[in-house]
Amino acid sequence: MKEARRFMYIGAHPDDPDCDFGGTAIKLARAGHAVKFVSATNGNCGHHRMSSKALAARRRREARAAAKIAGICEYQVLDHSDCGIENTLEARAEFTRIIRGFAPDVVITHRTCDYHPDHRITAQIVLDCSFIVRVPLYCPDAPVPAETPVFAFCYDGFTKPAPFRADAVSEIDSVLDDKLRMLDCHASQFYEWLPFNSFGIDRLDAKSMSWREKKELILKLLPINKTCAGLFRRQLARVYGAGKKIEHAEAFEASEYGRTVEPAQFQALFEP
Ligand SMILES: [Zn+2]
Repeated sequence: MKEARRFMYIGAHPDDPDCDFGGTAIKLARAGHAVKFVSATNGNCGHHRMSSKALAARRRREARAAAKIAGICEYQVLDHSDCGIENTLEARAEFTRIIRGFAPDVVITHRTCDYHPDHRITAQIVLDCSFIVRVPLYCPDAPVPAETPVFAFCYDGFTKPAPFRADAVSEIDSVLDDKLRMLDCHASQFYEWLPFNSFGIDRLDAKSMSWREKKELILKLLPINKTCAGLFRRQLARVYGAGKKIEHAEAFEASEYGRTVEPAQFQALFEP
């Protein structure tokens, strides 16, 4: 395995990469690996009070701030409309050029059975690129990378047509505070839209909240890392030892598309 690896997370919204891969991304970036986040949409629908235009601009700023905290190379926010991305030939070419431009060893996305149409469509576009990314006469202006990337999915709780399979696990207790600081950058979501959407809280006075209160709220809004640690205890014990108590984890499933690797190598890809 190459010593310095390149990771690209392509998600639908400007906070999906942080939520699903943020802790692992921080660990990998700190160890010297290159990590790039891509949001396919500009997130211009995720709010109950702001205008779409102002929200899109704010979410770009939030993504930039989160990238700084995570120490990743870049957080690219594309301009597809939130709740409106379509799997077009243009979008496929756009994604192909982005993947080729970064030449990642690993590309991570949602599963195509995820709940949000933008997640499903973004994932489908990524998978549609998994073969043609190495076809040289397709988008010949963008040079094909030397190797096809490994494609992987982030954890979700959906069970049809198949439940998520944890082919790689990553403890994130060691970087939990940093992951929460990254999510804290997405204030339009974690202190405004998500409390409204999940709990009907119209206005939250985030300025008067302590960091401890903010952390509790973020973890309440995003319980998946605790869920992963509980569901995939056995896999975590195999990687980190049975004696280590792990409370927060991220998990990844290998895609059958793109380059495939042995199970042990797939797990090793996500270890710093
Ligand atoms: Zn999303």
